[in-house]
Amino acid sequence: MAVVNIETDWQERAACRGPHAAAFFPPSKPERRDEKRLREDAAKAICAACSVRRDCLNYALNVGEQHGVWGGLSEAERRAAIRG
Ligand code: SF4
Repeated sequence: MAVVNIETDWQERAACRGPHAAAFFPPSKPERRDEKRLREDAAKAICAACSVRRDCLNYALNVGEQHGVWGGLSEAERRAAIRG
């Protein structure tokens, strides 16, 4: 069985560490469309200034992250990026 080594050291420099983290993933309760857009926009604004954005997006695409904002893209945007 092949072992895939996915580098995650970049996570130490993630701008989303700490109190901002809640903006990056859906809440446990149902979320309206406008609430989701506002939450994702807030997360993407943090991603825009993050020094490891490219590493983060590559990681999310490589492991097939299904939820949340990673590398400045929502789950729907990552699916679209994969489709090309
Ligand atoms: S690009 Fe966004 S999700 Fe990725 S580490 Fe940076 S702030 Fe977090």
